[in-house]
Amino acid sequence: MTAEAMPNGLQLDTPAQFVKGVGPVRAEQFARLGVKTAEDLLHYFPRRFDLRRQVQPIGSLAADQTAATIAGEVLEARYVARGKRPFFECSIDDGTGWVVLKWFHGGYLQKRITRGVTLAVSGKVSVYRECFQLINPAVQILTDIEGVDLGADQLLPVYPAGGGLPSGVIASVIRKVLPALLPLVREWFDRDHLSRRGLMARAEAIEAMHRPDDTEHWGRGRRRMAYDECMLMQLALALVRMRSVSRPAHAMPAGAAIDRRIRARFPFALTAAQDRAVAEIAADLARERPMNRLLQGDVGSGKTVVALYAALTAIAHRKQAALMAPTEILAVQHYRKIASYLAGSRVRLALLVGNQTPRKRRILQAQLAAGDVDLVVGTHALLGEEIAFRQLGLVVVDEQHKFGVDQRSGIRGKGFAPHYLVMTATPIPRTLAMTVYGDLDVSTIDELPPGRGKVETRLVRPGQRKAVLEFVRQKLAAGQQAYFIYPVVNPTEAGELTAAVQAHQELQAGGLAGFTVELIHGQMPAENKQHVMERFAAGKVHALVASVVVEVGIDVANANVMVVEHAERFGLAQPHQLRGRIGRGRDDAHCILMGNPRNPVAEQRLKVLCETTDGFRIAEEDLRLRGPGELFGTRQHGLPELKVADLVEDFDLLRLARRDAFAIIAEDPSLAAPHHQALREAILRSYGGRLGLAFGG
Ligand code: ADP
Ligand code: MG
Repeated sequence: MTAEAMPNGLQLDTPAQFVKGVGPVRAEQFARLGVKTAEDLLHYFPRRFDLRRQVQPIGSLAADQTAATIAGEVLEARYVARGKRPFFECSIDDGTGWVVLKWFHGGYLQKRITRGVTLAVSGKVSVYRECFQLINPAVQILTDIEGVDLGADQLLPVYPAGGGLPSGVIASVIRKVLPALLPLVREWFDRDHLSRRGLMARAEAIEAMHRPDDTEHWGRGRRRMAYDECMLMQLALALVRMRSVSRPAHAMPAGAAIDRRIRARFPFALTAAQDRAVAEIAADLARERPMNRLLQGDVGSGKTVVALYAALTAIAHRKQAALMAPTEILAVQHYRKIASYLAGSRVRLALLVGNQTPRKRRILQAQLAAGDVDLVVGTHALLGEEIAFRQLGLVVVDEQHKFGVDQRSGIRGKGFAPHYLVMTATPIPRTLAMTVYGDLDVSTIDELPPGRGKVETRLVRPGQRKAVLEFVRQKLAAGQQAYFIYPVVNPTEAGELTAAVQAHQELQAGGLAGFTVELIHGQMPAENKQHVMERFAAGKVHALVASVVVEVGIDVANANVMVVEHAERFGLAQPHQLRGRIGRGRDDAHCILMGNPRNPVAEQRLKVLCETTDGFRIAEEDLRLRGPGELFGTRQHGLPELKVADLVEDFDLLRLARRDAFAIIAEDPSLAAPHHQALREAILRSYGGRLGLAFGG
């Protein structure tokens, strides 16, 4: 079937192949750009616009003009395929004169630029054999000259080219199909909703994205499209949230007596920030709907203590609590810390990790099922099919950024409706909190407990390595301990690992001879890691050469020196987290970033690290430098990438869309109302099976 065969049958879901001007070959090329249907074409927006100036008469061209725009009819055209630089050339005439146009490697123009066609071109004027000519000018083929105002400036769309398709072909396909498709675009909102938010109609916005009258018009179109994009995402999040909080949960209020009893367990007073988080969590726990909250704060800000507060509240109500850590080392560390707080209490605490014996596991399983354990700390082994609780009141997940929105739903899907608390030591900017954690409420601990030493961070070029080692030796001789961190870009890549192994040998044999240096990396068996960590914690190892396994929560107060090798290879958030490992005691700590930044962005990253230890500032900066896609690949969080909206620039818009989306779902949880049908279809189309979205209605 050809496009001609179905001239009137065009629908939004018509395969691109049947769109006029596409056909099977281009359809395949479009598919490589992710464009499969007519609707995808509508949403394939220009990357930018080139301004085509008002056209001037060819007769008025001057030999030195650097930006001329002219239009005229093609007199003759030919493709010269010989030589290293084949070219396509033609001449055009507008009645006042003629000029030669030449495109190197312009074979693709052969079919489109033929005698009699009218072109508008702009570019630099040059002289060749006494003729004016334009080399590789920007070109627009004017098919309907009536509709084109050559006497005015015009914005020419430049589409992201690729898959074998140049921007010009995409532009012409889209230009031709727009008039037929725009009337098919369904509006999501009524006039009132739109006008109160200053948004233009959806179809109008799509048109403005492709062929705006001027930049202002485009800006308004973009705003509407960005709003819609945020809207879909926020609707999905609102639905996920609705699903998780609509189940009943046990209300577990922490009255004054419980509060006093819990606080008495801690050998310190909570910081003001911890108190705020505790109050927010306690309010959630007191409700008959499950808490659904993110607790964020820098490493060492005291999140675990807050989580323990929540767990003890649940236990006071005779419910069980589970704390899940991303690694065994961390689980063990949490377990020990918590055990020390709970020493002498009646709380029955257990540890569940992967490497326990089957017998031990069976006993634990039975205890959990019988309710003989109050608080279990563990790894994802806690998610095992065979693990059942008698009455699980609270789940705490540490270092959540390893899980996506979709996985998050899985953790809770075990027939329980426990309260749910997520902890992350990666502070994220508010915009991102509204997206990747958009189904959660957020509590923030933005203050470290008192009495911490300062962490001073310096950038040192590789040339000064000797001095660095000398500095480290002094610190070790004075009884402190040090980390040497190596980037492991890809843990399965042998080369990266070798770097750490080699460094370990070198340090032990040379730079740090006389001290005990040990190696820890991601591919070691858990037991060995555990063993090395224990020796380090006990002060038996002076320096630890590590891949990023120490990222997630090692707590050794005496380790106050950290050398980060190849610091330019890390992002911003990671070194920041890493250095959270030091400065945990009262002594001042030193973080030495060894690196040779070779581009301004890497340079800026390292500079920010040296300037501040404020995790939120660093997160904002990271977002600015890298963009949200990379920083927190929304896709890896189960959310589609935003194409139009910019999480940095469109913060207000995102907030607006979020408020609207949550209001819509609160009023119509399954989007069943007739006036929500277009929205409902749109969300099913873009999110389909993702996030396990299904409508109750
Ligand atoms: P996080 O989980 O945020 O990294 P932790 O809860 O593990 O932080 O706390 C880090 C360290 O600070 C622990 O040794 C803990 O005992 C201590 N700590 C936590 N809260 C306070 C506080 N309010 N005052 C003093 N020390 C605290
Ligand atoms: Mg922690």
